[in-house]
Amino acid sequence: MKPAWTMTDFLEVKENVLRIDQISAAELARNHQTPLFVFSENRIRSNITRLVNIATVIDCKLKVCYAAKANSNLAILKVIQDAGSDIEVNSGGELYIALKVGFRPDQIIFNGTSKTENELAEAIDAGIYAIQADSVFELELIEKIAGKLEKRANVSLRLVPEIESDTLHGLQTALLTSKFGMMPAEALDAFRRWRPDDRLLNLCGIHLHIGSQNPKPEPYERAFVALFENLLRIHQVTGHQLRHLNIGGGFPVNYLRDDSNSSEIADEQRALFSANLDPAEIIRNAWQAVKKSAATTDSLDLIKDIELLIEPGRSVIGDAGICLTTVRNKKTRPIDQNSRGIERVRGQTAGRVGPETGKTHRSSARDKDTWLLTDAGFNSLLSMETYKWYYHLVAAERADEPHQTPYKVAGPLCDGGDVYFDIEGKKRLPDYRDLPENIEVNDLLAILNCGAYSLSQMFPYNGRQLPAAVLIDKKKAVKLIRTRQTYEDLLSNQIFPID
Ligand code: PLP
Repeated sequence: MKPAWTMTDFLEVKENVLRIDQISAAELARNHQTPLFVFSENRIRSNITRLVNIATVIDCKLKVCYAAKANSNLAILKVIQDAGSDIEVNSGGELYIALKVGFRPDQIIFNGTSKTENELAEAIDAGIYAIQADSVFELELIEKIAGKLEKRANVSLRLVPEIESDTLHGLQTALLTSKFGMMPAEALDAFRRWRPDDRLLNLCGIHLHIGSQNPKPEPYERAFVALFENLLRIHQVTGHQLRHLNIGGGFPVNYLRDDSNSSEIADEQRALFSANLDPAEIIRNAWQAVKKSAATTDSLDLIKDIELLIEPGRSVIGDAGICLTTVRNKKTRPIDQNSRGIERVRGQTAGRVGPETGKTHRSSARDKDTWLLTDAGFNSLLSMETYKWYYHLVAAERADEPHQTPYKVAGPLCDGGDVYFDIEGKKRLPDYRDLPENIEVNDLLAILNCGAYSLSQMFPYNGRQLPAAVLIDKKKAVKLIRTRQTYEDLLSNQIFPID
C-alpha cells in the first residue's frame, strides 16, 4: 500500500526512494547538498488553478493576489504570475521584488501595519491597484504623500470587525486584540471625510484577513457578510460605491494527509493541521450569504460590479515545497522516566490511539531513546519553533519501508528549543517521529509541506548558511533558484575592521 503522504504525479516512491515530480530526492541531495528546499512548478500551478477557478462558482469578478510573504523567491513568483495570479506585498522590499519579477502595478496590493513614507511613496508612484490602509493616521500620510507626488492613490481600508477563527491565536488577525487594521466606525468616518471624487485618495475598497490556516469555513461567511454590511453602510451614509471587497487569505493546507504520526498531538492542534477545506466551496457559500443579505436589503446593485479579492499564501506554496535534510549525528539517551517514552517501553499506549490506523506506537524492550540530529532546524523552518508547526517526516531513501520506529529528532542549532517536538510538553507536536528502524548518520530525510513561511523566514543563526533551493520546472528540469550561502555571505553587511 502506498504511504498516505504520496500524491500522484508529484510525491511518489520508486525503488524505495522519494521522487518529487519524478526526480529522485537522493539525486537532488547529492547534487545540491542539504538542507535543500525543493519546489514543484506543477504543484504551484495546480494550486493557483484551483484558486483562480473559484471564479466559476461565483457571479462576480475575482482577483487572486498571492501573499508574497509566504514565499517571495523570484523564480517562484514568476511561476505564480504566469499561472494567473496577482500579488499582495507587505513592505517596500516585497513591492520592489514584485515589480522586479514583472508584476504590473495594477496586479499589486500593499498591506502592512508600519509602512514608511518612502514605501508609501513608491507604491503611490507606481500606481498600484490598492494600498490597504491600516489606520486613519496612515490615510492622512498617504494623502500627504500623494499631494507631494501630485498623484491620486488607490486605497482600501483594513477592518477588524472582531471575527474569530479556530486557528492559533498568534495567527488571528481580525480581532480587536490583534494589531491590524481599524474599527468599522473609523472606516466609516474616513469614507465621510474623503469623498468619492477626492483629488488625492481614491477610497475604493475594504479589506479583512481573518488569519492563516483557518480550519473551518464559517468565519469566512461571517467575514464576507461583515464586509458587505460595511459596504452597504458606507454607501448609505457617504454615497461611496466600493469597487472591491478583499477577504484576505488563510485557506488551510492539510499537513496530516499522513496522520500515522499524529496520535500524540493534542486534538485541537490536530484539527488545525488536518484541515481540508475546498476554497471554492468556502467562497461560494460566503458569496451566497452576501447575495442573500444584499437581496433582503434591496442592494444587489451595489455588488453587481464588485470585484472580490483573495490573498492566499499557504494554499499556493505550502504543499509545493519539501525540505531535504541529512542526519548528521545520532545518539542514545536513557528515556526520561517522567516522559511518555517510558510508557512505550512498557508497551502501553503512548497517548491516543492513532485515528486511522487504530494502532498505538509499538514498543520494544527499549530503555533508551535514539536521537537523530539533522542539518535543518528552526533556522530553516522558523514556524517549527514559533508555532510548533507539524511537518511530516519521511526517510527519503527508505520511503517504502514501515515508518514505525520512534526517534527523538532535533536540528543543528545551539538552542535547546531546536527540536522537532514540543519541549514544553503541551502536545502541540508528537514527542517522537516515526521512521524506519536503524536510521543512521548520513541518511536523508524529507520534511514535507514546508514551502510556505520557510524560505521567507529563515536566518543564519549560529553562522549557518541559508540553504539552497531548486525548482523542478514543468518540463521536469531541475533549476537552481537560490544558491546556498557561502561563508563570505555571512560577512556581508558587516563592517570590519573598523577604524
Ligand atoms: N493576507 C494577509 C493580510 C496576511 O496577513 C496573510 C498571512 O497571514 C495572508 C494574506 C496569507 O495567509 P495564508 O498564507 O494563510 O493564505
